[in-house]
Amino acid sequence: MFTWSVPLFAVDGLQLPEHLQQGQLVIGHAPPATQIEFQGHTLRIGADGVFVFGLARDAAPRVELKLRGADGQAQTRMLDVEQRSYPTERVNGLPQQTVTPSPEILARIEREQAAVQAARTRDDAREDFVHGFSLPVAGARISGVYGSQRIDNGVPKAPHMGLDMAVPTGTPVHAPAAGVVTFAAPDLFLTGGTVLIDHGFGLDSSFLHMSRVEVKVGERVKRGQVIGLAGMTGRATGPHVHWGFNWFQVRLDPALLPRPSE
Ligand SMILES: [Zn+2]
Repeated sequence: MFTWSVPLFAVDGLQLPEHLQQGQLVIGHAPPATQIEFQGHTLRIGADGVFVFGLARDAAPRVELKLRGADGQAQTRMLDVEQRSYPTERVNGLPQQTVTPSPEILARIEREQAAVQAARTRDDAREDFVHGFSLPVAGARISGVYGSQRIDNGVPKAPHMGLDMAVPTGTPVHAPAAGVVTFAAPDLFLTGGTVLIDHGFGLDSSFLHMSRVEVKVGERVKRGQVIGLAGMTGRATGPHVHWGFNWFQVRLDPALLPRPSE
């Protein structure tokens, strides 16, 4: 599930992974001074030509990159995106107020989600993502996958947009890559102990349901650094680490991320 290979194709100097699928973080390289636009975003291009974009859970079978080369020539590149099928997961035994919240609770949830979304507007030139991503906990059983259709206590809900790793409460959670902490809160209503780490270029990892948060907003973390302890705070039926991964507001599949090369 976590294996990764990076065959590349290169046309006109543009390098992209050969195979693309829904939920994938796409890391490419472009010649100097290329401009690239994807779904209304003008992509940041690093000094060495690196760029990223994300393919959403329901990305279309063909998506378009708009390119403008150093010579000013505009062109369009169509990319094929493998369509995935997602399982249905039924979760029972959740506290009912977390599934059908009261208006007061709903207002709190919306306030907290707005604060998390605000942390995801950052577009930082740091290239912490280029060295790949290690697992935040080792040897865990996967208890929930990205994209699954969720039915909570019999109520259809939004799809599950992260990777759940079942581990005992108190298990240390490690940063999968270097970054800067952009959000840290001990107990949000749905997500409990919550930490966001920005890896640059609009990419962030999020960790939910932690029993303890051990980092502060603005703190620089290294890959492997302990950022908190696993738990089951917020809406959870058992102790686990929920790892989410975003390109700005687009939620991606952590299971598809490139692993560290060294
Ligand atoms: Zn989860």
